[in-house]
Amino acid sequence: MVNSGKYIKKLRELTDSSGNILLVCHVNPDGDAIGSMLAFWHYLSSTGKIVNMLSPNYLQEFLLWMNGAENINIYLRNRKKAVRMINEAGLIIFLDFNQPSRLGEAERAIINSPAVKVMIDHHVDPHTFADLIISDTSCCATAELIHEIVTGLNRGPYSSTAYDEALYVGIITDTGNFEHGSFTGNTLRIVASLIDSGVDREKVFSMIYNNFSVDRMRLQGLALYSRMKIIEGTPAACIWLTKEDLINHSYAKGDTEGFVNMPLSIKGISVAALFVEKEGFIKVSLRSHGSFSVNDFAVRYFNGGGHNNAAGGEFYDTLDKALGYFEDSIRNELAGI
Ligand code: 5GP
Ligand code: MN
Repeated sequence: MVNSGKYIKKLRELTDSSGNILLVCHVNPDGDAIGSMLAFWHYLSSTGKIVNMLSPNYLQEFLLWMNGAENINIYLRNRKKAVRMINEAGLIIFLDFNQPSRLGEAERAIINSPAVKVMIDHHVDPHTFADLIISDTSCCATAELIHEIVTGLNRGPYSSTAYDEALYVGIITDTGNFEHGSFTGNTLRIVASLIDSGVDREKVFSMIYNNFSVDRMRLQGLALYSRMKIIEGTPAACIWLTKEDLINHSYAKGDTEGFVNMPLSIKGISVAALFVEKEGFIKVSLRSHGSFSVNDFAVRYFNGGGHNNAAGGEFYDTLDKALGYFEDSIRNELAGI
């Protein structure tokens, strides 16, 4: 991993000198946010430290089974307790995000806390709201970076069933089970060591990917059958879902996860977008194959960010306007590619 060595010493000093550590992941936490937070929590707790975990909002159903997930505090569930935890922390470690807005409603309380702050992340263009920034965009998942950091802190490999499983969840979810994302030989060497240590691949895969409701499958059918548009003259396609579509399919958090990747399987399509109508705004997800940076596109047009091939953002107007705006923007950027 690039440059981790020089950060390990500093991080060790910080974790050794802090009696009370708070790990924080991003709003709408995905498998990597929860996987990397739980893995680091399992490790730090094993060294005898007092460590708490906080998520700005609720976990998706398919992550609740993970060992330690019941110990994650949810800001929206108990703000008072969360604020107390934030104020009592001497060290706050951000996992899997690099912009303060990704803290959702918890942003103010966390950013204003006097604690020393560390960011551990793999997204491009980190904002400088932490005292120590450990950012490595060559890692396919923050979980991969956590593996490197823990190996450094521990002065050698660390393993426990719960820790290994959490890292594995982070890596498979951020690569779509090794289908996309920037995984490397190094990722696979880590995965090999996790499997050698006994991670139950089939169980984890099943808990993550074979856990859908019938409604969710039908929503996927609807998305592909009548909510997908190819932007003619460009290699882009988009899918949209209205609030009504979600209600009609008993939408549960996380149900649209993965939908944005589907158009990339179409011959000639290398950019895909998903627009989901939320309360008061449109959530945008973007994916690409190849050199088109959806991170740059998300920053420029949708007030967002992410990675070169996977990014997201938001749009504050109607769904129709969002789709028209996307089509215009994509034509600007992609016509003739
Ligand atoms: P997803 O499309 O799966 O929600 O997110 C893809 C990637 O883009 C993730 O790495 C996520 O952290 C990032 N991302 C998603 N939405 C936003 C957003 O609104 N702002 C920023 N800065 N990043 C986002
Ligand atoms: Mn991630």
